[in-house]
Amino acid sequence: MLLGRMMTQPLSIASLIDHAARYHGGTEIVSALTQGGFERVTWGSVAQNARRIASALVRRGLEPGDRIGTIAWNNRRHLELYFGVPGAGMVCHTINPRLSPDQLVFIVNHASDRMLFIEQTFVPLIAAVRDRLASVRGIVLMGPRDDQAAAALPGLLFHDELLAEGDPGFPWPAVDENAPSSLCYTSGTTGNPKGVLYSHRSTMLHALAANQPDGFAVGAGDSLMPVVPMFHVNAWGAPYMAAAAGARLVLPGPRLDGESLARLIDAERVTIAAGVPTIWMGLLAALDAGVATAATMKRTIVGGSALPPSMRAAFRDRYGVELIHAWGMTETSPLGTVNAPLAKHRGLPAAELDRIRNGQGRPLFGVELRIVDAEGTVLPADGETQGELQIRGHWIVDSYFGEEKPALTWDGWFDTGDIATLDPDGFMVIRDRSKDIIKSGGEWISTVDLENIAISHPKVANAAAIAARHPKWDERPVICVQKRLQSDLTEAELLAHYDGKVPRWQVPDRAVFVESLPLGPTGKVVKAQLRAEYGEVLWDEEAAALKAEAEA
Ligand code: AMP
Repeated sequence: MLLGRMMTQPLSIASLIDHAARYHGGTEIVSALTQGGFERVTWGSVAQNARRIASALVRRGLEPGDRIGTIAWNNRRHLELYFGVPGAGMVCHTINPRLSPDQLVFIVNHASDRMLFIEQTFVPLIAAVRDRLASVRGIVLMGPRDDQAAAALPGLLFHDELLAEGDPGFPWPAVDENAPSSLCYTSGTTGNPKGVLYSHRSTMLHALAANQPDGFAVGAGDSLMPVVPMFHVNAWGAPYMAAAAGARLVLPGPRLDGESLARLIDAERVTIAAGVPTIWMGLLAALDAGVATAATMKRTIVGGSALPPSMRAAFRDRYGVELIHAWGMTETSPLGTVNAPLAKHRGLPAAELDRIRNGQGRPLFGVELRIVDAEGTVLPADGETQGELQIRGHWIVDSYFGEEKPALTWDGWFDTGDIATLDPDGFMVIRDRSKDIIKSGGEWISTVDLENIAISHPKVANAAAIAARHPKWDERPVICVQKRLQSDLTEAELLAHYDGKVPRWQVPDRAVFVESLPLGPTGKVVKAQLRAEYGEVLWDEEAAALKAEAEA
């Protein structure tokens, strides 16, 4: 009997931009210029330019698999590289510009980047370390010819000149769907950063799965504004989702303060955005100050660190914007969970529904979650037991860049380093990062809970809970607080705000006020720095008190 067959086509990133060009070629991409102002292009021109860049790279002798670094903001030229570099069979290695120069040098050398595309902003940074970047054969400024930049970096090439010399009809080479397409390093808050090498297949499956109705749900009618940087985990895959959906993109460039974003949302009628909570705190303040109304914005995907419930409520109640909580990591492409309620949640009392929606949500099709104890024994998904969160699926790291050894448990799961609960429907709540937990007298206290309560205080701009060393309880919570401007908040007032919200023994022993919280390169609070500064604030006084008690 003759059996039938279906077509097999590789899941390639080039096919995404081809689709966007063919069926949404006239759809606009609005892109902030680094020097100020905006430009308007289309998916059609981005697709042409992606081919031009690909052909220019091939002509210059770059080969499949070569790593091409980018140090750039969210803009049109970066978008061209997102498609052109993997389209040519090379690897688009996005580099976080907020890293220290030493970390940047480490990453470029570790990845053996052959070419670097850099924004004008970073010319001085790269000029200072140029002679330490041995693998880099050429540097391209992402813009037109610029003599001043050329003087700082001899041999500098120019993106726009590569476009001019490139071939808009360049035929995409055939790529294996398992070939690498992009590379991103983890933030490296502990030890050296590690590279996660995404494949065409993992990127495509992630983009398609994450854009389901219970995920991003971006359609051709949307104007999507990824505020999450394109230098971090492919901007959560948003550019790839937008190409598949034919959505309009609004790329905000370097100006990510609340006021600039608020104005951009109104001017460009943004319908959906994506970014980390610290960004939305700034936006909320700008909206509250009357800078804009965000009337067109319906949804925003928020992740990267815990979304404070008070912020979700503020956006919903004051501006009609639903903040959708999501969780992920560099190692997970990044989306693991997105918060969308189930049919059975319809009609639940508001407080109960809020409890569900404040969590990090449930797994997308394509990934599975479990929690385990310190010995690796799988724990019950009962919504209460907490354990170390592990994940597996189509777009989860197997081994890090340049490492032979898989980064997985013996039975094939990736250990996230997060502490979480899971309920029977898969709804996950992050309780802590395992390296940040507070263990007081043998009991865990969730830093996320303590921070959410502090942030819900109207006089608080941001807060981070840390473990401080304690002579009796080993560790006790201390809350580090950044006040709102001109606020007269006192420590007693803040600590009183915990009354009735957590058991008494979980209330922080101290609140310390800081000018601003230290933020890492991806906008997360660097708790190690706070621990170094405030981890001993309880010790002397408590030790003296214990001594006095013993002597009495
Ligand atoms: P990165 O790889 O730099 O994106 O960091 C990933 C880590 O960020 C995760 O392991 C979590 O600790 C944290 N994270 C991401 N999303 C959330 C979220 N929605 N709530 C709490 N923590 C989060």
